[in-house]
Amino acid sequence: MTKLPIDILLVDDEKDFVEMLALRLQEEGHHVRTAFSGQEALQALADESENTDVVVLDIKMPGMDGIETLQAIQNKYPIIEVILLTGHGTIDTAVQGLKSGAFDYLLKPADFPELIAKLEAARKRKYEQEERIRLAEAKAIERRSGGLFMD
Ligand SMILES: [Mg+2]
Repeated sequence: MTKLPIDILLVDDEKDFVEMLALRLQEEGHHVRTAFSGQEALQALADESENTDVVVLDIKMPGMDGIETLQAIQNKYPIIEVILLTGHGTIDTAVQGLKSGAFDYLLKPADFPELIAKLEAARKRKYEQEERIRLAEAKAIERRSGGLFMD
């Protein structure tokens, strides 16, 4: 099995939960950043010196909630995968999030092996999408230069 580190952004208004989860993920070798609100998450993503593969996003947060944050992430960073964190009270919202393009969801309290499996799957999908984009870009360049040489 591959053990490539995943670049993760954890977003939840419950600070203790975020910090505990960040520690556990770091112990597994992953690169973790944290944010405690939707606004902070967008600020973290705007930092161009950092890569993000997957955002783990709490649905229920004061201010900008998870669904609003999901939409903002998808508008600005469509390549980044999002896993929603939901409580029993927000499972309907999780369904809405999945319909609007979240990769998956997890019920809180998050089961750690399940979270790791979903993070791996989300990262894999992002890598495959990036690879398709690279190939399409290479093809586009080939076409353009091919056209030049034919003239
Ligand atoms: Mg919350």
